[in-house]
Amino acid sequence: MRKFQHYIDGVFEDGEARFESIDPATGIAWAEMPEAKSRDVDRAVSAAERALTSGAWAAMTATARGKLLYRLADLVAAHASALAELETRDTGKIIRETSAQIAYVADYYRYYAGLADKIEGASLPIDKPDMEVWLKREPVGVVAAIVPWNSQLFLAAVKIGPALAAGCTLIVKASEDGPAPLLEFARLVHEAGFPAGVINIITGFGAECGAALTRHPKVAHIAFTGGPGTARHIVRNSAENLASTSLELGGKSPFIVFADADLESAANAQIAGIFAATGQSCVAGSRLIVEASIKDKFIEILKAKAEAIQIGAPDRMETEVGPLCTFRQRTLIEQVVSESIAAGARLVTGGSAPDEAGYYFRPTIIDCDGIRSPSAETELFGPVLSVLSFTGEEEALALANDTPFGLAAGLFTQNLARAHRMTRQIRSGIVWINTYRAVSPIAPFGGYGQSGHGREGGMAAALDFTRTKTVWLRTSDDPIPDPFVMR
Ligand code: NAD
Repeated sequence: MRKFQHYIDGVFEDGEARFESIDPATGIAWAEMPEAKSRDVDRAVSAAERALTSGAWAAMTATARGKLLYRLADLVAAHASALAELETRDTGKIIRETSAQIAYVADYYRYYAGLADKIEGASLPIDKPDMEVWLKREPVGVVAAIVPWNSQLFLAAVKIGPALAAGCTLIVKASEDGPAPLLEFARLVHEAGFPAGVINIITGFGAECGAALTRHPKVAHIAFTGGPGTARHIVRNSAENLASTSLELGGKSPFIVFADADLESAANAQIAGIFAATGQSCVAGSRLIVEASIKDKFIEILKAKAEAIQIGAPDRMETEVGPLCTFRQRTLIEQVVSESIAAGARLVTGGSAPDEAGYYFRPTIIDCDGIRSPSAETELFGPVLSVLSFTGEEEALALANDTPFGLAAGLFTQNLARAHRMTRQIRSGIVWINTYRAVSPIAPFGGYGQSGHGREGGMAAALDFTRTKTVWLRTSDDPIPDPFVMR
């Protein structure tokens, strides 16, 4: 079995304990992972704090930090296919997607490399004649970055990039499911030449490793991606250290199709929106809200496309839908699908696991029109599309916003005025019009409501890893007068 290590204070080492990682395509253990417990966490946080406050990183110019980030970006690009193979092996995400996504991850590091020396302070037009007042932007401090099992290299990059550009140091906690690519990425951090302690990469379970990290007194900011239930634990833990948080949580995103839409494009976007990444995507367009007059026709197009999808081993280039990452994920999906059918939903296609070993589940479409189906309300994180229909914009909006989540929404129509009207009233952090699932380092990403707060991507994300220091300088040489009047 292949063996992975932690990266703490610039050194590769075994964890306090170890656990096995399962290949989701076979259900068989293939690698041994280190497991961080409280002591490892404490050493990693202390290393990050030392690197923040003393030594080469603390003294480094922003331009030099940017150069290190460019070097890291080049290394990610050069090793993209090896990292993609590891991610595919450890999480079951198909190789077509991991290859494309990791090649793009390099661009995220480039974007933040370029931003490092463009984070500026300000001079204030203060209302006192004998004062100069300015704002310095300083790193917020030691950052705990916690990611879930899907797209770990990508979700880590949107935290590591801006945090380093801002001058912070980090402890990155890979998920206990599929941590191999992120642990291997540590080799590139080392090769890029970051000073010891600037980036520490560990893995472990939420209850011990995650809890110890998020309540650690030296952690100043927690950048978390994962489920809303875990986010609540983290917010409670942060009551201990009063760390700030950014929370990128789940979704139950509406995908709205009007009768005037280009149906072929809308269908392709919907298929990608729900079946790409085997549905294990926070922005999965898992609720199709389709105009009643075209509902049957649109379902027929989707059904034909869903049934033509190539299900298979994730390391084959032809595969379009691979296994789910974990057995428990598939069990949850099976349960919710059968509860939905029992509640009166109509199975259009899929709905079961194929016979092969591994955690596969067929691309599934369920017509939930007119009933409250659990599949249309629960975030399933799997290849299950629930269909609802509407008559008129008002009903479409009511259905779209009928969720505590608010991460993303898709809108297909050729009526531009309607697209604007709808966009104004949709409650979500992202609206895609006549497209779906587009992302970029330049565009902020994040949710409303139960989908979290804070934004990743874009310039503002780097500012979120800073805090301001207000500096007052008295310019008068006169003695300070009456000490009992505030000036
Ligand atoms: P999860 O919340 O179970 O786990 C996420 C991470 O949190 C893991 O590293 C886990 O070990 C850690 N964790 C668990 N308990 C913890 C605790 N008490 N304290 C600190 N850390 C703890 O999520 P998951 O099942 O791995 O991933 C799926 C979820 O992630 C879905 O809800 C999905 O929508 C969400 N997600 C969101 C985005 C986004 O950008 N908005 C992207 C991808 C995934």
